[in-house]
Amino acid sequence: MELANRVKDLTPSSTLAITAKAKELKQNGFNVIGLGAGEPDFNTPEYIIEAAEKSMRNGFTKYTPSGGIVELKKAIIQKFQNDNYLTYNTNEIIVTTGAKHALYTLFQALVNPGDEVIVPAPYWVSYPEQIKLAGGKPVIIAAEEDNDFKITPKQLEEAITDKTMAIIINSPSNPTGMMYNKDELKKLGEICLKHNITIVSDEIYEKLIYTNDEHVSIAQLSPDLKEQTVVINGVSKSYSMTGWRIGYAAGNETIIKAMTNLASHSTSNPTSIAQYAALKAYTSDEDPITEMKLAFKERLDKLYSLLIDIPGITCNKPKGAFYLFPNVKEAAKLNGFNHVDDWVAALLEEEKVALVPGSGFGADDNARLSYATSIDLLVEAANRMKQFVINHQ
Ligand code: PLP
Repeated sequence: MELANRVKDLTPSSTLAITAKAKELKQNGFNVIGLGAGEPDFNTPEYIIEAAEKSMRNGFTKYTPSGGIVELKKAIIQKFQNDNYLTYNTNEIIVTTGAKHALYTLFQALVNPGDEVIVPAPYWVSYPEQIKLAGGKPVIIAAEEDNDFKITPKQLEEAITDKTMAIIINSPSNPTGMMYNKDELKKLGEICLKHNITIVSDEIYEKLIYTNDEHVSIAQLSPDLKEQTVVINGVSKSYSMTGWRIGYAAGNETIIKAMTNLASHSTSNPTSIAQYAALKAYTSDEDPITEMKLAFKERLDKLYSLLIDIPGITCNKPKGAFYLFPNVKEAAKLNGFNHVDDWVAALLEEEKVALVPGSGFGADDNARLSYATSIDLLVEAANRMKQFVINHQ
């Protein structure tokens, strides 16, 4: 059977692939420590589960409006007002089947064949693939590790052509955990306005910040920037609700309407009961995030100090999300590997520690470790990595 061209070059998600491999080894009886996961290891809070259960009993088990129920849209509008000082109307919000599908639908709605979308690297693995699926061309700008993995205004100016139609900003970032500050966003935003470039601002890790830095949405910096930006967010990471699949986009009414039309022919609507669960997350007085953040911060500090103690490994300390993205090129070399991908594979094979190679994120010298697992396992993983580097020289 001949497949469509659009899927022929599609690369499977490297994060999901490594998680599957680690699971397989575990099932075969190996003591694997998986640091590949892109999801919090905490359960969805009980009161959210109860709200979903109640919604089922109350009969909310039917189709909903394609763009999401009005109550949830209103709760999301309130969240934007409280957290980001942004004011939206319900026709400027779409609730989607996870933030991933918000992004997918957005690129389908925005990108024409041949259009260029700027993607700063290191990037989240799905951005380039989603842009390609919409017929667009991802234009990668390599953010320097020395600049804390942030692109500069000069790099942005140089990457812009007459085909550039959008840029993705992901702050706090997966995989690096870096964050842009207000001043940096302002400078990048001015360039986007000058060239009429749409800004896709993926703020899914907004709530997971471990320093005193404040999350800034580029959309809040001026009315013009708000008009030019589509903000992407969701409940997956902040409320430990990855499986519920609720995300959303906020932006210009015309874009949101087009996305809603697309959704009406693809998903119909995000799952009804998950929408009621998300509504509870946004309207409850309970605060599960603070506790989760405390645990993440403790793990980050511990794992970071152990990692930078390993020969050949350097690491910028992340400010947010739940990943470390060390440069492991020298460690790989010490172990006789020219490519970090091979080093990561050998580490899994021999020490049973699963990392995700940086190549999938557009950064060949790095690897991603998720600290969404217990501190004991993180310590054990770092010990195994150290032994591996030291014993195989
Ligand atoms: N954006 C980034 C940067 C992510 O890391 C992820 C999940 O890994 C998503 C979007 C998608 O989140 P969701 O689970 O809501 O689809």
